[in-house]
Amino acid sequence: MALAEIAQRMRVAEVAAGRAEGSVTLIAVSKVQPLERVVAVLAEGHRVFGENYVQEAAAKWPDLRDRFGPVELHMIGPLQTNKAKLAVELFDAIHTLDRPSLAQKLASLAQARGTCPQLFVQVNTGEEPQKAGVLPADLAGLLRDCRAMDLAPVGLMCIPPEGEDSTPHFAMLAAMAAEHGLSGLSMGMSGDFEAAIAHGATHVRVGSAIFGARDYPVKPL
Ligand SMILES: *Cc1c(COP(=O)(O)O)cnc(C)c1O
Repeated sequence: MALAEIAQRMRVAEVAAGRAEGSVTLIAVSKVQPLERVVAVLAEGHRVFGENYVQEAAAKWPDLRDRFGPVELHMIGPLQTNKAKLAVELFDAIHTLDRPSLAQKLASLAQARGTCPQLFVQVNTGEEPQKAGVLPADLAGLLRDCRAMDLAPVGLMCIPPEGEDSTPHFAMLAAMAAEHGLSGLSMGMSGDFEAAIAHGATHVRVGSAIFGARDYPVKPL
């Protein structure tokens, strides 16, 4: 089964990189997958999932958590400020903090709730105009803003440009995280998670290699 195969390939990549077996978190990206495929992966015992759309996740996961127990949910898609409240209620981690206005909103929600999801700052390492994420040059400023608001991001996230070698982007993200004293690195997808592990990924986000191809159109990132 695909999940077991991905887990096995992750262990091989961890060992090859001189890292502890099982030290990298596998986020199973279930966006727009038919429910029966998600249930099959839950039935195999996996409990860490990623979603791109707040509304889709809100429609699916409360019921699945009732059926299967605690599930660690990661928000990996662009987050609109007006969906932030629902997002902090639903997700254990948000990987797409990329602007001061969203930091401000998350900070005020965290203050009111007394708790905050784990936060990763998304960096637009390829400096693609259409892509979310803070530009590398603006990362230090955004982290300063976060800390001034009592937000403490744990790591960085990137989505390398399509059709390009991901490895320079993984190396760049790892260097930026080290420079800022951040231990989390959310990078690597179905096609490149082993390379990401070689470059220090702590969280890989794997969708189609676990669930199969997505049958439905996905909104562009
Ligand atoms: C969809 C998505 C993934 C998973 O992509 P696959 O190529 O199916 O593994 C990972 N990260 C983000 C941000 C995504 O939107």
